[in-house]
Amino acid sequence: MLPRSAYIHVPFCRHRCGYCDFTLIAGRDDLIGDYLQALRREMETIASPAPLELETLFFGGGTPTHPPSDQLRTLLQIVRSRFTLTSDAEFSVEANPLDLTDEKIDVLADAGVNRISLGVQSFASQTLTLLERDHTSGDIGAVVKRLRRRFDNMSLDLIFGVPGQSLDSWRDSLRQAIALEPEHISTYGLTWESGTAFGTRLDRGELAAIDEELEREQYALAMNELAAAGFEHYEISNFAKPGFSCRHNETYWAGHEYWAFGPGAARYLGGRRETNIRSVLGWLARIERGESPVAEAEELEPEHRARELLFLGLRRGDGIDRSEFQRLSGFNLDELAKQAISVNVDRGWLENTTSGIRLTREGQFVADRVIADFL
Ligand code: SF4
Repeated sequence: MLPRSAYIHVPFCRHRCGYCDFTLIAGRDDLIGDYLQALRREMETIASPAPLELETLFFGGGTPTHPPSDQLRTLLQIVRSRFTLTSDAEFSVEANPLDLTDEKIDVLADAGVNRISLGVQSFASQTLTLLERDHTSGDIGAVVKRLRRRFDNMSLDLIFGVPGQSLDSWRDSLRQAIALEPEHISTYGLTWESGTAFGTRLDRGELAAIDEELEREQYALAMNELAAAGFEHYEISNFAKPGFSCRHNETYWAGHEYWAFGPGAARYLGGRRETNIRSVLGWLARIERGESPVAEAEELEPEHRARELLFLGLRRGDGIDRSEFQRLSGFNLDELAKQAISVNVDRGWLENTTSGIRLTREGQFVADRVIADFL
């Protein structure tokens, strides 16, 4: 059966934020036309002549809403000419608050987009400035209000663990986000990637990571505040009102297959994982020369695949269901991971449920350590 999900990577941003390690090219809007042509060509490699039907479609970036309205419309047309959507499909687009003119909001909604994931990050001016974001906290409420005209499914992204961000400031951002009544909120701890401006500033001593205990308190605060506001903590970084979890990301976490197109895009098809070349210029050049954009490919051995399902499943609030795991991987959960399960249950980081295993609240703070035991 062909995948029922697809990801499109749109690698353009006005400016590269200091902490960002994503695949993108900033300040090169002159390349958007070439990107659209190359994307069309990459999508022509789908063997089926007829458009394929999807249950979830996700545009990520970069900033998918950065291209001007006419090029955004063309982008949507290219993708929709290859993929149709089921009547209840989820079609998500990541968006930057300042891009969202009324015209772009209409372009998105008219093309069938029904979920917007807004890169808010913070409501504190000091944090937004440090993160080099181009919007102010005052812009966010106005944008959400204008989006509501066409969208009834919205997610806000927030970042914690930012230098100088106090617990009170983080609480205020969480509460301001909740007050806007989104259906979904993602909270990410800031990561320090080498090669980014933040990584360099960390090495030079110009920036310092916040205290580990404070970061833990910030994550705990997010869990408490969002639970009190009616959000379900359905994945390590994701919280949703009932019925509004991100179905596209659920397909990744459930280990289903998916298409992916664009620079740096990673797909999983026919038991094979492939990742496109990350360089935007490299991706464009390869496609223009008629070459494959794939930079890495790997056939997953059954046990590797099973361990990947463990890794993905442990991130989910519901954890791993024993019989579902056996059905998908062919492995018995307790035989494959007996030692890791027993050690982490003893530590209080993992618990047995009636049907499987999941992280405890304490385990969610050290998820990376628990997951490492399963790999
Ligand atoms: S807007 Fe998002 S994708 Fe673009 S540079 Fe900033 S963090 Fe990265």
